[in-house]
Formats: sequence, C-alpha cells, structure tokens
Amino acid sequence: MTRAEYIIAEWRTRFCCVLVACLLLPLLFVCGKFAVTHLIHIPTPAERSLHKPDGWDGALAGIKIGLILAPLLGLYMLALFYLSRLIGRRCPSCNRCVTGLRQFEKIVESGQCPFCKKPIF
Ligand SMILES: [Zn+2]
Repeated sequence: MTRAEYIIAEWRTRFCCVLVACLLLPLLFVCGKFAVTHLIHIPTPAERSLHKPDGWDGALAGIKIGLILAPLLGLYMLALFYLSRLIGRRCPSCNRCVTGLRQFEKIVESGQCPFCKKPIF
C-alpha cells in the first residue's frame, strides 16, 4: 500500500461512516421516540389534579428513557465501528485495522502501524 492509497482508503472509510451515520440517525430518532412515548405515561390535566406529581415520577421517567436510549445508541455506535473495520485497510504485519483512527496524521507522517510499529507504506 502506498501513502496515496492509504489516504484514499482513510477518506473512503470516513465518508462511508458519515454517510451511514446520517442515514441511521433518523431511524435511531424514530425508534427512540416510539419507545419513549409508549413507555412513559404523560398524565392528562384531570389526572394531574388527582395525583400531584412528585420527584420520583420524573426520576422514573429519566431512568426509563436512559434504559431505552443507551442500548439504541450503543447499537448505533457498534454498527459504525464494525463498518469502519469492514471497509478499512489492515496492517500487513499484525492485521489490525489502520483506517478510521484518530492517529491519521501521525500514520501518514511516519508510515508506521500505530500498533506494531512496522511500516505499512
Ligand atoms: Zn501493525
């Protein structure tokens, strides 16, 4: 792999991940909104007059929202992580993915794998 091929592979990986993230974000929002509206009971004005809400109602609603949205957000991030590993380039020595990392500039300058320190181009 040459330096130019590595840079192109890095930008291709970033572009695909951003594209998929933008496509999955509305789906994540719709799933979260659907789950939250079906699990949290919003009292009507008549119910509010009978039962005065205390702090526990808000705390339980927050816990339910967290329990729903945290796994959804985790799945979203996991999908992006595996996509970057799937379409990215690998080190010929240690076979670890060297694209989609934060050390892009360092890798381009040195030409070394950030994990095993062997040259990749
Ligand atoms: Zn390596």
